[in-house]
Parts: sequence; C-alpha cells; structure tokens
Amino acid sequence: MTDVTVVGGGIIGLSVAWRLVQRGLTVTVLDSGGDEGAWYAAAGMLAPAGETAFGQEPLQELLLESARRWPAFAAELSLEAGYDLRFDTTGAVDVALTGDDLAEARRLWAYRELRDLKVRPLPPSELRELEPALSPRVRGGAFLADDWQVDPRRVVAALRAVLGDAVTTSRVTSLPEGVTVVAAGLGTAALTGLPVRPVKGLVLRLRGEPGVLRHVVNGYVDGRHVYLVPRSDGEVVVGATQEERADFTVTAGSVLELLRSATDLVPELAEFELTETVVRHRPSTPDNAPVLGPLGAGVVVAAGHHRNGVLLTPVTADLIADLVVGRVDPLLAAFSPGRFA
Ligand SMILES: Cc1cc2nc3c(=O)[nH]c(=O)nc-3n(C[C@H](O)[C@H](O)[C@H](O)COP(=O)(O)OP(=O)(O)OC[C@H]3O[C@@H](n4cnc5c(N)ncnc54)[C@H](O)[C@@H]3O)c2cc1C
Repeated sequence: MTDVTVVGGGIIGLSVAWRLVQRGLTVTVLDSGGDEGAWYAAAGMLAPAGETAFGQEPLQELLLESARRWPAFAAELSLEAGYDLRFDTTGAVDVALTGDDLAEARRLWAYRELRDLKVRPLPPSELRELEPALSPRVRGGAFLADDWQVDPRRVVAALRAVLGDAVTTSRVTSLPEGVTVVAAGLGTAALTGLPVRPVKGLVLRLRGEPGVLRHVVNGYVDGRHVYLVPRSDGEVVVGATQEERADFTVTAGSVLELLRSATDLVPELAEFELTETVVRHRPSTPDNAPVLGPLGAGVVVAAGHHRNGVLLTPVTADLIADLVVGRVDPLLAAFSPGRFA
C-alpha cells in the first residue's frame, strides 16, 4: 500500500522520495527509466555565488539555503548508500581571458560581494598558483570559496540504491489516484499544464591526467562563458551551451565553441581524450525559478529547476517532503505553482 506516488525519478523525484521514506511514509516512484533526465548531462556545479546574477533575489536565497544543506545531505546519503558521491568543497575560480572579460566579471563580483557572497579577486600570479595549467593570457580572476561540486550521476545511483524496489519503470500519462508528487522534469508540463519548457544544453566529457585542474573553473572567454569541472579520476566536464530548443542534435559548431573556450583557458586540455558529448534539456519555467508547492487536492509539484536542479536538490527534498506531511515552510511562498495560473 503506497502513501505517496512520486512521478519522475530524476535527481529531484528520487531525493523527495528518500526524504518521504525517512518521514515514515511508503513511497512508490514511477519513472520512465534510463537516463533521459537532465541530471544525466548536469556538470554538478553547486554554485550559489557563480549562479547569482542581477535580480532574482528569492531564487538566490533558495540557492544559498540549499548550498548550506549540501554537506549534511551528501554525508547522510553516502553513508546510507555506501557510495562516494564525489562531493567536493575545494571551491571554484572565476577566470577572465581578456580585459573586456575582466570588466564583465568584476561587475558581477561587485554585485555578489554586496550580497555577502565570498568572492576574493586574485591577480594573475596568485590565480596561476591556484591553477598552474591556466593560459598565461588569462588577465585575472577570483576565488569562490562556497562554490562546490558533486557528480550528479553518482547522486542518482546512490538514491536509486537506497530506494531499491520503491522505484518502478513506468511512463505516466495521467496523474495517479492518491497523494502525488509530480517531479517529472520536462514531463511535468504534459501532466499538469504548467509552463515547463526545454532549454537545450550540450556538455562534453574529456579524460586525461588527473590533477591538471584543481578547482571548478568558470571562464569568461572573449565574451563567451564556459565552465570546466574536474573530477578526481581525470575526467573534466566542459559545459554548457544554452539554447531555446528541444532537439538532441550535437552540432559541430557547438562542440567547437566549447572546446575553443576550454583550450583558450587551459591549453593542455587539447591533449585530453574527448569521451562523451551529451545533450539534455533543462526543465525551465517562464521566470526560470522552480515550481514548488500544491497544485490541487493531493497533488504537489517539484519541477522547473532550470540550471540549478542539482544545487537545489537538498532544499527541494526537505521542503516538499515537509509539505506532504503538513508542514509548510515560508521559503516555498515565492515558488508557488499558482504564480502561473
Ligand atoms: C547541460 C546541463 C548542465 C547542467 N548543469 C547543472 C549544474 O552544473 N548544476 C546544477 O545544479 N544543475 C545543472 N543542470 C540542471 C539540472 O540538471 C536540472 O535542473 C535537474 O536535473 C532537474 O531535476 P529533475 O529531477 O526535476 O528533472 P530531470 O533530471 O530531468 O529528471 C526528470 C525525470 O522524470 C522522468 N519523467 C519525465 N516524464 C515522465 C513521465 N511522464 N512519467 C514518468 N517519468 C517521467 C524522466 O525520465 C527523468 O528521469 C544542468 C542541466 C543541463 C541540461
């Protein structure tokens, strides 16, 4: 007998289900199966500072709150699953290639400092001490102590392990009876009528000598943006394109753009093996903030996390599980599905 059905077994649905089980409920997760979710492409940057842009204050509060919850979430899940998530708190560096890039980056750093985010501007010499593989052309950068990373594929594997038989393969075409959490990413639109749209993203995976990069690198490169996320085994995730499209085509131009930016910053990456190109779609809403809350009798939505679903996983799981058992956190107010009614 199921108390709650969760539709969608991506990183959000699985973590909500895990928190519901911990609250004593019997949960069934219905997922179309495989790796079609956005989590499969996600780099796993946990970047409350790097993702803080002008405006969007309630979302920034939610990003920060979720970042605060990541260390405990990762420790608890690793322990329960017996699985290393590669949760890494080394920090990130912003890096600007040209003078214009540096001017753009400085405007953002000033704004982030106003919002009490830890941003420490660095001269090129100090930057290269932190990241010796950076090109000598790099003009400057900053250290972001609170921007971390995790491997989303390992998080999903761990959540699947702890949930076991509670996860069932099924493509849902209409909402089930009983208490239901809709966490179906892009599938949420067809199931609920909410305006969740696909935002196409391409990431590349490279593989080479471990340790060439020590931090997540956010690059401003001749007006283009690129990020490099190094894992301890020598993998480097290079991302990401962002287009208002729903297709899965990997174009030569988008691969070229990412690789050119990446190797402009870190020339040694040209020697790495290109092991994977992967396209998925960010589930995004008209204001690019998630929809979190009740939609009707017995139906709760947790979707539309756009660029930050991995970062927002712990706070979403806690708030939605609490909501299902009757505790309404004030943080939810700004993200109500009702704002699109
Ligand atoms: C290229 C790229 C890079 C990204 N990088 C980052 C990053 O560095 N940091 C970060 O925080 N976020 C990142 N994101 C965003 C993040 O991946 C998403 O916000 C997050 O995956 C959303 O989680 P979700 O579980 O809601 O949706 P998804 O991960 O898309 O999962 C949805 C699940 O629902 C299932 N489903 C859909 N419809 C149905 C249905 N009808 N019936 C049953 N099951 C269904 C799908 O199969 C899937 O398993 C990135 C995204 C992309 C595309």
